[in-house]
Amino acid sequence: MASKKTVVELIALQCSECKRKNYTTAKNRRNTQEKLELKKYCPFDRKHTLHKETKIK
Ligand SMILES: [Zn+2]
Repeated sequence: MASKKTVVELIALQCSECKRKNYTTAKNRRNTQEKLELKKYCPFDRKHTLHKETKIK
């Protein structure tokens, strides 16, 4: 009976310019406590923008 704790959390990455959720990813809570902020390509803005972590639902 191996203990299976949910360390990995599913999150969405939201574009800081158009507020659309373009990406989903998994975050390891044990390694990453702070909010994720990544430069990602936004197909709506058609450029790279800052995407911030948000809840998936
Ligand atoms: Zn955007």
